[in-house]
Amino acid sequence: MFSKILVANRGEIACRVFTTARRMGIGTVAIHSDVDAEALHVKSADEAVGIGGKTAAESYLDIDKVIDACRQSGADAVHPGYGFLSENAEFSERLAKEGITFIGPSASAILCMGDKITSKKLSAEAGVNTVPGFMGIIEDAEQCVKISADIGYPVMIKASAGGGGKGMRIAWNDDEAREGFNRSRSEAKSSFGDDRIFVEKFITQPRHIEIQVMADSHGNCIYLGERECSIQRRNQKVVEEAPSPFLDEATRKAMGDQAVALARAVDYVSAGTVEFIVDSQKQFYFLEMNTRLQVEHPVTELITGVDLVEQMIRVAAGQKLEITQGDVKLTGWAIESRLYAEDPKRNFLPSIGRLSRYRPPQTLTTADHVVRNDTGVEEGGEISMYYDPMIAKLCTWSTTREAAIDDMSRALDQFDLSGVGNNLQFLSSIMKHPRFRAGDLSTAFIDEEYPEGFHDSDPEGDTLALFAVAAAVIAHRSQRAPDAGQGSAVLRGKQASESSDIVAIIGQTHNHLTVTPDAGMLNLQDESGKRMLAETSWTPGQSVATIRIDGREYDFKLSPRVAAIGIEHGGFLVKAQVLSPRKAELAGLMPVKAPADLSKFLLCPMPGLVTTLMVAEGDTVEPGQALAIVEAMKMENVLQAEKAGVVARIPVAAGDSLMVDDIIMEFET
Ligand code: ADP
Ligand code: ADP
Ligand code: MG
Repeated sequence: MFSKILVANRGEIACRVFTTARRMGIGTVAIHSDVDAEALHVKSADEAVGIGGKTAAESYLDIDKVIDACRQSGADAVHPGYGFLSENAEFSERLAKEGITFIGPSASAILCMGDKITSKKLSAEAGVNTVPGFMGIIEDAEQCVKISADIGYPVMIKASAGGGGKGMRIAWNDDEAREGFNRSRSEAKSSFGDDRIFVEKFITQPRHIEIQVMADSHGNCIYLGERECSIQRRNQKVVEEAPSPFLDEATRKAMGDQAVALARAVDYVSAGTVEFIVDSQKQFYFLEMNTRLQVEHPVTELITGVDLVEQMIRVAAGQKLEITQGDVKLTGWAIESRLYAEDPKRNFLPSIGRLSRYRPPQTLTTADHVVRNDTGVEEGGEISMYYDPMIAKLCTWSTTREAAIDDMSRALDQFDLSGVGNNLQFLSSIMKHPRFRAGDLSTAFIDEEYPEGFHDSDPEGDTLALFAVAAAVIAHRSQRAPDAGQGSAVLRGKQASESSDIVAIIGQTHNHLTVTPDAGMLNLQDESGKRMLAETSWTPGQSVATIRIDGREYDFKLSPRVAAIGIEHGGFLVKAQVLSPRKAELAGLMPVKAPADLSKFLLCPMPGLVTTLMVAEGDTVEPGQALAIVEAMKMENVLQAEKAGVVARIPVAAGDSLMVDDIIMEFET
């Protein structure tokens, strides 16, 4: 067995590998860029080597620096995690020359599977179903049109060297095929330096379902069930689960057998994932094989009980797999939510900044429930613009899919995070979505269900009632604090068991309640006469309130507002006020302050760097005209004029770093 493993990665996956290595009694080495000197993964390892640099190219992608760090620390094996050098055949060959073990497959397997045309041909030869299409390289747009028409629209035009959803276009007719070919080819050339393009049938209403395989160097190869990853945004996975609610035992076995056949065809060793696209008739087709540990591997670990990282390490050290196909049993249901530093209400633009608060839910393992949170950050840490914006992977496991989703909802409600824009509320909204709960998924789910992006909506019915009760309970508890805040005055000065009539204003709705303290609990009665019993140990100052309402616990995240309180729960965020009936009546008469008119400003939509200013003071601009480019997290965002106007003032210069809502330019009115 190895004595020391270096992880050539950062963030949660580095921490994840260290945990298993430590349990196995193996020494751990972290590497880090200058930006990451204080990062959690550095503190989680026995030793750390600074390799300098800021960007990925200057640090985690620099093979020479990583190999130097191995020599310096005396590591005898390297785990690459995912991303970065994990699918880089040159890296694994260079390590071999140094006598250091690469914890992953052979360089030849990486090369075969890294190319989509090669891997598709290999799959077909190994008896794996492939998407009908043209397996050759397409020379020009006219050939693309002809082949697309032969296949039958819609078609998917793909770059052979593609990855991360890049270099891919759907075409529904000849014109789109011509256009799609040209755009995919130029994108492939600039992103991958390789412009080979192929075409295949576009599978409509598809589900993304992938098979986890694991192989050793003694000829053993098994599959560990599937993961469904259909909840995607721009071909990026957001929520994953295992097993898939769509597969039956026969389809699962057929997919597993084909995945194993493909792995065997390239003498695969280590953990790998064979991705399939599955149509509404349960026909499945090979997409690609990822020759590494996958981001979403925890859901497989939760339903199989197998530590995939441990098996990878053992197999790399030449040991036999500890389990056979017959040992693999899928138990219960697991869900993973990827918590990203991106703002769903601003078209998912990436956010950066310091995590002023980071309190994940309590992790736990009981016979019926698991809550697991794989993370690489801690409170006070920084999400920088240099790397991936993933903050954490929150997973829950339970005996049924419904219970696992309920657990995830609660865990998301409890997740207390601020300082950085994030998608917690959006993830909660997905967990409550009737279509998600029904398991009626496809890769178009987010586009179809959130066509305008994600925005706040008002709770209704039972959910609204829940918010009203929560507001009343918070107001009641606040009266005990010396600096009792909003709402407490309504209830203050009452005798211990005296009833009070209150109005909980949730957004625009007025909810009349009669509140009666009752042996440490609160009895609440609504206008229809319905009674509810609420109990909490929340005290003012705590930002998450757990309230038991009619025997069931709910969590509410609280944020202070002027003369009100913000309450977040189940994907809803509302402004709540608790007033006496008379005050509530008068509140309805208060003039509503119109929001300030900001239309004469161009505001910075996210923290980032102004790289280019395309206009100058005094210029006349047309609607849609490009005004400036702001770069954040490797994404270039072109800001356009919303209406015609004249630029009055530009207080920034190219090269300036801006915060959200900083003024980039002002127009004449
Ligand atoms: P998966 O199917 O496991 O999501 P992808 O092939 O889409 O994998 O991409 C690999 C994963 O690696 C991404 O989800 C991303 O989070 C991560 N990744 C890719 N590039 C980087 C990078 N430069 N830094 C950190 N993580 C990265
Ligand atoms: P990448 O290497 O970028 O991950 P993939 O080939 O795995 O590329 O495709 C990424 C995603 O694009 C898939 O998860 C699926 O949602 C969609 N996709 C790819 N090929 C097809 C196809 N032929 N029909 C329908 N959707 C597809
Ligand atoms: Mg893929």
